Amino acid sequence: MYIECLNLDRFRNYKSLHIDLSPGCNVFYGKNAQGKTNIIEAIFLCAVGRSHRTSKDNELVMIGESTYRVTLDVVKEDIKKSVSISYDMQQGKRVDVNEISLKRMVDLIGNLNAVIFSPEEIMMIKQGPFERRRFTDITISQIKPSYFRDLQRYSHLLKQRNILLKDIQLGKSKGKELTVWNDTLASTGARIIYERKEFIKRISNKIQENHLKLTDGKESLTILYVPSFDIDDKMDITEIEKKFKRILEETEPREIQRGMTLYGPQRDDFEFILDGISLKLYGSQGQQRTAILSVKISEIDIMFEETGEMPVLLLDDVMSELDESRQKYLFENIGKIQTIITCTDKEKFKNEENARIFFVSKGTVKIEE
Ligand code: ATP
Ligand code: MG
Repeated sequence: MYIECLNLDRFRNYKSLHIDLSPGCNVFYGKNAQGKTNIIEAIFLCAVGRSHRTSKDNELVMIGESTYRVTLDVVKEDIKKSVSISYDMQQGKRVDVNEISLKRMVDLIGNLNAVIFSPEEIMMIKQGPFERRRFTDITISQIKPSYFRDLQRYSHLLKQRNILLKDIQLGKSKGKELTVWNDTLASTGARIIYERKEFIKRISNKIQENHLKLTDGKESLTILYVPSFDIDDKMDITEIEKKFKRILEETEPREIQRGMTLYGPQRDDFEFILDGISLKLYGSQGQQRTAILSVKISEIDIMFEETGEMPVLLLDDVMSELDESRQKYLFENIGKIQTIITCTDKEKFKNEENARIFFVSKGTVKIEE
């Protein structure tokens, strides 16, 4: 799939913008703070419904305005669709596909699949479990919308259960009401845990394969699922659910005391293992960056296998972070895929035959012939 054109209206530092993209390589270059990442952000927003930089839509609205709108024309199997996200400070967010408003955000998923590689992604290795869960959640959601629904449901249930735990702690509610919440939390949670387990297994194999190639057979990289409670690799959803329920029951007294749910997907983590040791603790900068590159190429592979369509690849400022051989590997391995690249220096792409080059300056974009 590819994006044919992009329209921005009062989005970040763009008052109004219309650009036609190449189905191949698109390079946006310019000085710092001109609006290059804002373009990537707008595209990613249309893929998953939220920005990769912030969860606050207010920040996306051009300062001094009260609404924004991003519209993309996406071509998939020769059929064109328009995907539009708009936000009004009073009325909230709205998603339209072919000018028909969607009732639920989850229905947006699948209209545009995107893989993003940005400096923020490296945090996935360096920072806490939240960033790592976010990565797996976004990727699984794009290939399995029911997972996205389960995540939303789980987060709602978790909030309610935590409120109840606090109420019981304060003597405002009785303990037996917890049973119902335990059941629903365990069944929704088990589906999430199962999907994460299977996804990590699958992407780990791909990552290992890609990373070996990327490092000339020198480094072995895998990713391990570290759930909040032990599960067996072979467990199915029902078995996980049973175990989760038992754990919830067993820890109830402690949870009431703390006023919060102590086990479940909200406490999951993943660990990158490079040659047998933790990449987070011992990996060099370069090793961590290369690892993310392997992760991203693997993500593209899986999305293609699942949907039969190549996703759009968004590369924000990462070319300068990769050495020549890694850059070459990236381009050789992404094949026929629409790529949106931001950088400060266009030199590298000057001889690229099919690249469309755009100069970005103070919220304006000029195509270079
Ligand atoms: P760099 O090379 O440093 O990464 P960039 O070209 O990627 O720069 P962006 O992050 O795309 O820069 O855009 C940053 C610019 O957008 C800044 O000048 C910032 O002030 C402006 N900006 C960000 N949010 C808004 C907003 N809501 N309204 C108006 N301008 C904004
Ligand atoms: Mg930027």
